[in-house]
Amino acid sequence: MHETARPRRKLGVMGGTFDPIHHGHLVAASEVANRFALDEVIFVPTGQPWQKVNKQVSPAEDRYLMTVIATASNPRFSVSRADIERNKVTYTVDTLREMQSAHPDAELYFITGADALANILTWQDWTELFELAKFVGVSRPGYELNTDHLEEHLRDLPADAVTMVEVPALAISSSECRRRAAEGRPVWYLVPDGVVQYISKRHLYVPAGTEGA
Ligand code: ATP
Ligand code: MG
Repeated sequence: MHETARPRRKLGVMGGTFDPIHHGHLVAASEVANRFALDEVIFVPTGQPWQKVNKQVSPAEDRYLMTVIATASNPRFSVSRADIERNKVTYTVDTLREMQSAHPDAELYFITGADALANILTWQDWTELFELAKFVGVSRPGYELNTDHLEEHLRDLPADAVTMVEVPALAISSSECRRRAAEGRPVWYLVPDGVVQYISKRHLYVPAGTEGA
C-alpha cells in the first residue's frame, strides 16, 4: 500500500534589518501567513545589510533579540540566526539557499515590502531566486505596489512566482522609530511593548554620550 504523500510544509521567510522590528513587519507576516496558509514564518535578521553598507546599523545581537521578543507570543513565528552568523553582507539568495538546506522539503515564500522587492529583483540573479522561493510583495504606504517595470521579466516566469498582496496599511518604518527614539519621542504602539523596553534598556538609537541624560 502506498503511503499518502504528506503535503509540503509551507514556510514564509521574512528578511529584514529589523532595526528595530515594528508592527508593519508583523502585520505583513501575519497577513501573508493567513493568505497562503503558511505553517510558519521565519524572520531572518540581516548580517551587515547590503543596501545599508554605509549606514550605521545596531549590533546584530540587539536586532536578533528584538525580533525574538516581538515574535515570541506567536506560535507560528520563529527567528533564524542564519544571516547574522554568516558574517558578511546579506544577499537574499544566500538567505534562501540556507533556508532551503535547513528545510529541504518545504515550499518557501519570501515576504517583502513593495520597496525592497524592487531592489532585490533589480540587483540579484532572478533565475536562482525563483528556483528557491515564491515571492510575495506586500503593500507599504508611500511605495507603489506594481510590477509594471518587471513585466518583461515576469512574462517568462510561472504565474505564481510573484504575488502582490494588499496588507493593512501601517505607515511605520524602522528609520522613523530610530529618529523618534533619538529625539526622546515615543515609539509606544509602533513597536511591541517588549521592544520599547529593550530599546530603552540598551539605550539604542540615543546619540553617543547622552545615554544617561
Ligand atoms: P528602514 O527604515 O531602516 O529601512 P524598514 O522599516 O524599511 O527599516 P526593514 O527591516 O528595512 O524595515 O524591512 C524589512 C522588510 O519589511 C522589507 O521587505 C520592507 O519592505 C518590509 N516592511 C517594512 N515596513 C513595512 C510596512 N510598514 N509595511 C509593509 N512592509 C514593510
Ligand atoms: Mg527598509
